[in-house]
Amino acid sequence: MDAPQLPVVCAKCHNGAKKTYNCDHTDYAEYCAECYTELHYYLTEPGQGQDPQGASGDGDDAP
Ligand SMILES: [Zn+2]
Ligand SMILES: [Zn+2]
Repeated sequence: MDAPQLPVVCAKCHNGAKKTYNCDHTDYAEYCAECYTELHYYLTEPGQGQDPQGASGDGDDAP
């Protein structure tokens, strides 16, 4: 019944959060930990390690 008003509201999911985070990826909007983590998860997931397909070959198709 008593919903405690959390001080900050996430700009993405609009849920109250005890702590929010922001950076240039969020356009400096306050994101909750979950949204912030999720955002960076998708940002860092592809192409941070070795790319199995493009291992330093730039695919020059010379005849
Ligand atoms: Zn959120
Ligand atoms: Zn960031």
